[in-house]
Amino acid sequence: MDIQEAIRTYTRKAVSYYGDAQNDEFFRRLKQKEFVSLRCTRCGKVMFPPRPVCPECHSGKLEWVDLPRTGTLYAFTQQEKAFRFSAPDVIGLVELEGVGRITTKIKGNFEQLVIDMRVELEFLELDDGSVVHQFRPAGQKK
Ligand SMILES: [Zn+2]
Repeated sequence: MDIQEAIRTYTRKAVSYYGDAQNDEFFRRLKQKEFVSLRCTRCGKVMFPPRPVCPECHSGKLEWVDLPRTGTLYAFTQQEKAFRFSAPDVIGLVELEGVGRITTKIKGNFEQLVIDMRVELEFLELDDGSVVHQFRPAGQKK
């Protein structure tokens, strides 16, 4: 088994073990270029990633809401080897208004990224047809 085949195999195993209806729906909507998560209808908490119950008040009454498509770069790092992505990859924390800080892939030249810069959402289609979210400096050409 080569490394790419091993990654695919173990990713599938992990997804089948950890996967849940909320994550399935999140990735289904990403494929449709929707960036959404769940909001608790009791306390208003918007959670990311989506979960079956609210992490604040433990209510199971949740609704899908659109997430902001722009945010602020809170922190970032570069890793030489990354699961599912080509190396080197930039991974960061992006502050989304009303949501909090989310972990995401950052598209951009590491040396040109700056803490607190505005970033915007972009959809990244992977070789296997799945779609993930990433953020890039706002207003920059693709
Ligand atoms: Zn709640």
